[in-house]
Amino acid sequence: MKKALVLYSGGLDSRLVIRLLQDQDFQITALYFALPFGCGCSNMNCNLNLIQREPINLKILDVHKEPLLSEYLKILKSPKYGAGAGINPCKDCKIFMLKKAKEYANKHKIQIIATGEVIGQRPMSQVPSAIKTIDEELGFEILRPLCAKKLKETSFEKSGLVDRNKLLKITGRGRKEQMKLAEKYKIKYPSPGGGCLLCEKVPASRIKHLLEKNLITEKTLPLTTIGRHFFINDTWFVVARNAKESEIISTFKNHIPDDIGKPSVYMHQRPSGNTALELQEAYSTGDNEEKRNKFTIYQLSEKKSLAPKLK
Ligand code: SF4
Repeated sequence: MKKALVLYSGGLDSRLVIRLLQDQDFQITALYFALPFGCGCSNMNCNLNLIQREPINLKILDVHKEPLLSEYLKILKSPKYGAGAGINPCKDCKIFMLKKAKEYANKHKIQIIATGEVIGQRPMSQVPSAIKTIDEELGFEILRPLCAKKLKETSFEKSGLVDRNKLLKITGRGRKEQMKLAEKYKIKYPSPGGGCLLCEKVPASRIKHLLEKNLITEKTLPLTTIGRHFFINDTWFVVARNAKESEIISTFKNHIPDDIGKPSVYMHQRPSGNTALELQEAYSTGDNEEKRNKFTIYQLSEKKSLAPKLK
């Protein structure tokens, strides 16, 4: 039995790879990484819906949980191959996922690991030099069926395990060829999802700060992507912006509950004084400009490092 493990984001490219390899009689396992700060294409719920409609053997590696989370956070803190415009360490992130994929493949005697990568589609991790770096760091081969004919022949193709003639030579950021193939194969696919927060300036700067303070854990992770964040006298505060966020914050031990129009406030340690209550008050209505102004400089992603001690 020929077996392939496809790195599966739920998006069109990885769906096409599954189809191309199924056409070459591979039994497919789709490996989905639930990354803590978002993934390239679509979210987990969306994936699961689609998987249920088009049965695929799906394996999920949840990086919100230990021990994977700590390993991933370590990469974010000091990526070997640098970061993009935000704090997105795309090459290291890919290497992390592919190494995990290899462990899984070895364990389950899967001969091939394949990805939906396309040369030139993403500036940081899919240009030829980045692909070369990733491959050298990995030390094992990856099949990239969508652009394989633009790359050196792999041992999978040389040995006849994979028919190179049936692989593709797609390059660039355009999606036309992939969309035509989706039509031909009648593949359903989601529209691109929220993307990766690590690439976005404001959340990336907040996550960076929290990483530096070692405040991101499996428990606090849900707080990193919600609310307004403040760092006052070494205490991290998260102020809810709506009922849903209040609900999340209310599950934490150190919090002030919401109270008739006042948002929940989380604090990672109990501060002295009334700072948490003042924050709650300042954000209880939209017209508390004066009270809010006092806290603006402490808001993460603002100039927090310049903020003086709050008396
Ligand atoms: S954008 Fe980069 S850092 Fe974010 S999930 Fe994709 S590869 Fe990883």
